[in-house]
Amino acid sequence: MRGENFKENASRLKDLDREPKQAMAIARTYLDWNATAPLSRAARQAMMDAYDLPGNASSVHGEGRAARAALARARAQVSALVGADSQAVTFTSGATEAANMVLTPQFRMGRAPLAVGHLYVSAIEHPALREGGRFAPDSVSEIPVTRTGLLDLDALTNALEAHDSNLGLPMLALMLVNNETGVIQPVADAARLLHAKGGLLVVDAVQAVGRIPVDMAELGADFLIISSHKIGGPKGVGALVARGEVMMPLPLIRGGGQEKGHRSGTENFPGIIGFGAAAEEALALLGERSVRIGGLRFRLEAGMRALAADLIVHGADVERVANTTFFTLPGLKSETGQIAFDLEGVALSAGAACASGKVGESHVLAAMGCDPGLGALRISLGPDTTDTDIDAALVAFGKVAGRRRPAGQAA
Ligand code: PLP
Repeated sequence: MRGENFKENASRLKDLDREPKQAMAIARTYLDWNATAPLSRAARQAMMDAYDLPGNASSVHGEGRAARAALARARAQVSALVGADSQAVTFTSGATEAANMVLTPQFRMGRAPLAVGHLYVSAIEHPALREGGRFAPDSVSEIPVTRTGLLDLDALTNALEAHDSNLGLPMLALMLVNNETGVIQPVADAARLLHAKGGLLVVDAVQAVGRIPVDMAELGADFLIISSHKIGGPKGVGALVARGEVMMPLPLIRGGGQEKGHRSGTENFPGIIGFGAAAEEALALLGERSVRIGGLRFRLEAGMRALAADLIVHGADVERVANTTFFTLPGLKSETGQIAFDLEGVALSAGAACASGKVGESHVLAAMGCDPGLGALRISLGPDTTDTDIDAALVAFGKVAGRRRPAGQAA
């Protein structure tokens, strides 16, 4: 019996081994950088070096001190990317953990408790924030966006007017760049409204860093969330960056007191070192990358419009980051479109990558007042994207667009 189970498991493992190789058998064009960016060479090298450092950063001996110094360097590299003090960086297992750490009613201001009474989240937040972290569901409200995909500042003003400060401070969670549309949100304006009411601003800068300059002070962010794997670092690492060291959320993970007690557990050392290297590279090359990538996206969108006059590009009327295009081809469902591009060798996404691998309707499109059943696809470019990739995307686009069912024709 045991033997049979073992054989079955072994053959399942072989199938799992084969699947990625089969999926990659045809020439591939990777245009899904907002889902994750391939590991950069600099990050990979830094991680390989880190694997050779044996010490635990909490140890007092030489090996421990060497590991601690390497962590301090990564902290400085990550903080520089967002214009923060390196002491204000707490490393986590990713942006999702950072969000769950900071979205909590319980804070400390020095030694004194500080209560946050209500969480306001924009209707287009990533689920990592939209779920509300450690707030009870009835302490979370959504702030709508306008049809262009920008936070509705009037709605925020009204919500803050109605906020009951007896319950505690208001907190707003707002992304700087939307992961589906690429639209840049009016974070500094929201910060002014919120701070006038003494509130706290949590900015999800996951899709902003490495794409546009990010400065915590200019944004008016009290906390900022970033993720390594969106900028060419390894997956499973991120950070919560605070404005200062005085006001901090009660920890989500308690234990040995690493990360100054804000996030216990032996650090993901190679991951953090890789994150640091990716952050340094992203900052150094930000300007030249965004100009080059912007040129590629211009060619892509112009080419798509030439092939399909009815193309709708969501968020095209407002400021977007240079790498993202989120579009609807009338008559093409998201799932069908995604599979059709995949079969043509082009990896793109139907909005946010979701753990089940299923294509759900976009809550971002719904929040913008579009029919989410319309279907939309996202192409996101990155530093390694070439003219050849754009050519391949346009060839695939032409084929997929040509196979659509004409408008009005029954299924
Ligand atoms: N916020 C945004 C805008 C994202 O795009 C993502 C990832 O898709 C996350 C948060 C979650 O990041 P992580 O994968 O590091 O948990």
